[in-house]
Amino acid sequence: MIETSTDVTVYETRPQRVVSGRGAARALPEELTGLGVSRVMLVAGEAELAVAELLTEKLDVVATFSGVRPHVPVEAAEAARELARSSGAEVLVSVGGGSTTGTAKAVALTQGLPIVAVPTTYAGSEATDVWGLTEAGRKTNGADAVVLPRVVLYDPELTTSLPPHLTVSSGLNAVAHCVDSLWGPSASPASTAFAVEGLRLLAQGLTAVLADGADLTARERCQSGTYLAAAAFAAAGSGIHHKICHVLGGAYNLEHAAMHAVVLPHVLGFNAPAAPEAADRVAGALAGAGFGDGGDALAALLALYATLGAPRSLGELGLRADQVNEAARRTLEKVPPSNPRPVTETQLAELIGRAQAGADAVEVPLS
Ligand code: NAD
Repeated sequence: MIETSTDVTVYETRPQRVVSGRGAARALPEELTGLGVSRVMLVAGEAELAVAELLTEKLDVVATFSGVRPHVPVEAAEAARELARSSGAEVLVSVGGGSTTGTAKAVALTQGLPIVAVPTTYAGSEATDVWGLTEAGRKTNGADAVVLPRVVLYDPELTTSLPPHLTVSSGLNAVAHCVDSLWGPSASPASTAFAVEGLRLLAQGLTAVLADGADLTARERCQSGTYLAAAAFAAAGSGIHHKICHVLGGAYNLEHAAMHAVVLPHVLGFNAPAAPEAADRVAGALAGAGFGDGGDALAALLALYATLGAPRSLGELGLRADQVNEAARRTLEKVPPSNPRPVTETQLAELIGRAQAGADAVEVPLS
């Protein structure tokens, strides 16, 4: 099988039905009929359970799993798998953010059940075939077609309850998918087009949602951007941004979305000098949403951050200054060779240290 190389680009589409728009979640019964399944195992965290039960009240729900935990600890995955086995469920319906979708994926991975995902944040896990599990402070990821939800229902009405700080951090998690996919190992014209348009929609949508959280057109725009961002990331893979966050999330249990938001400008400042085309695309997409003049990607991203009041410090999320060197050492092992710029442990410690302290992101010139 041909893989991406310097001469060849591979873009693999992922088979999935995506239903978007106001009231999309109400299409759930028809979508289950379309899949030829009826016995539902509902996966929803405690906070989303009431909404999830309302959406599924007329369905044959044979089991409900609400023990959703951030970063999908193996214990939670095992409990959910056991419930799927014992209930004879035919389909998993997940209603919630990335942790909820991730729990359904953990079940699909071993039980082979299809997933219908109803996302309520902008994490984007529903559009990828990537699963993740955490055991003893180490996060393991993998990609498997069986965990890709068969149907996604993007309903903006389910996101109006997201408070501003979650809207911003989750939306910037999606922005990070766009940016980090531009220099991913399998980046292609298709994934790049998705990433650029996703970035523009997210920047526009998030700004408008912050002004009015009930603006459904803006919420819809954020969901469209979320899908494009995650599909780009699934196709292209990622650079050091996702590797840094993968290590920090698994080892120090930092809040996923806010951590991505804090780290991204520092990674852009580091990678941009070695990836001028990607930087131009970021600057162009953000200029299309009213941020910057299309020239300076980092300045435009920081302008978006200032407008959104984005989180700035990993220290505030729980990473101590005395953990920075260890985090850099752990991350170094994971740096992908395809990252546009090689990175040393010292450079990683500097980058993570600035993010820990809440310092301004700076462009790191090529030496
Ligand atoms: P989350 O699912 O943990 O949710 C964060 C918080 O938001 C929770 O308290 C939840 O109850 C609340 N919430 C969710 N929807 C809400 C709503 N509509 N209104 C109010 N509150 C709401 O966090 P997340 O950022 O959505 O997802 C993070 C997880 O997803 C991480 O484990 C990450 O690894 C995973 N992820 C995976 C992929 C992938 O491709 N596999 C992609 C992105 C994220």
